[in-house]
Amino acid sequence: ERVGYAVVGLGRLTVGRLLPALAKSRYSRLAALVSGDRAKALKLARQHGLGDQAVYSYQDFDRIADNPDVQVVYIVLPNSMHAEFTIRAARAGKHVLCEKPMANSVAECQQMIDACRQAKKKLMIAYRCQYEPLDRALLKMAREQKLGELKEFISANSQNMGDPRQWRLKKALAGGGPLPDVGIYCINAARFLSREEPIEVLGSVRNNPSDPRFREVEESVQFTLRFPSGFTATCSSGYNSHKSQFLRLQGTLGWAEIDPGYAYEGNRLRYGILDGGREVIHEPSISPSDQFMLEIDHMSQCVKADRQPHTPGEEGLQDQRIIEAIYASAASGRVVKLSAPGNTRGPE
Ligand code: NAD
Repeated sequence: ERVGYAVVGLGRLTVGRLLPALAKSRYSRLAALVSGDRAKALKLARQHGLGDQAVYSYQDFDRIADNPDVQVVYIVLPNSMHAEFTIRAARAGKHVLCEKPMANSVAECQQMIDACRQAKKKLMIAYRCQYEPLDRALLKMAREQKLGELKEFISANSQNMGDPRQWRLKKALAGGGPLPDVGIYCINAARFLSREEPIEVLGSVRNNPSDPRFREVEESVQFTLRFPSGFTATCSSGYNSHKSQFLRLQGTLGWAEIDPGYAYEGNRLRYGILDGGREVIHEPSISPSDQFMLEIDHMSQCVKADRQPHTPGEEGLQDQRIIEAIYASAASGRVVKLSAPGNTRGPE
């Protein structure tokens, strides 16, 4: 029996990626839709073979407690709404899969973790790249020391934003600008690939309030993370440059990059390593797979086997701690120190 999902928020990501991923997944299926737009939800429900009783509004969402078809609630709303719906879902007795960024503050992340723990429900953050076969292949290379000792991670995640009225440019809804939205991919990848947690953070923010898109949120954020081994991550996230998404790992014996990286599809892994004194460049062929499907099916397998997800709430909380440290560093012009978190990552 496949695990049933209620998807909350029927925006671009849900319609374009998540509903198709659920439709082809092995262990998961769509069981309900939650939306502020009933007509849109009814239409999508019919397209996906669901009856009208499987459609909920934000107001009557709590009734989902009585729907045994729904085991997991997948939250795909503007960032400021993640905490409220995670807590309501846990109280309704459902497991939660929540989009990144987990929430807009460390305090909200902690409340979400506490609510799920209290309800004895699982909480997973949708860090799709940790389920991407190319990222997994790179992690394996790093673990096996194919690049020698890891020294640097260099990464950018930028895009040029259009409509100045969109929620991503409203501070109260988005929590910040490019840092929590796209810069978070760089933070998460640096931690995932190094298997270390940063102890020092240095950030700088570029504002551009004369542009109507950047009245409330910053235009770009640059940051460096320093890890206990000496490994560093140097990253750039922006909302006013042409789409640029890559990561590069440098070690004593080689380099590896995923460029483009962080994309839904079409990512490309290459690496160059010393071989008999010469650098040889490789491009392994790894068959592509839908990251969203892999991520959702991971959650379903955890629910079925009663296991902790690989990217639990603690993983989202740790990225939020780092985001807040980067903003604090940018505001003060100083390095901000971070203490070690608890264990943030579940088994693969
Ligand atoms: P979107 O704007 O396309 O959809 C958001 C949905 O929320 C819409 O259906 C909208 O009607 C609804 N909504 C409810 N209250 C709202 C309000 N007050 N203001 C605006 N919309 C409101 O956004 P999206 O791109 O689907 O993003 C949704 C979430 O998914 C965000 O947290 C985002 O960070 C995340 N996301 C993740 C990925 C990924 O690759 N994992 C990609 C895109 C988005």
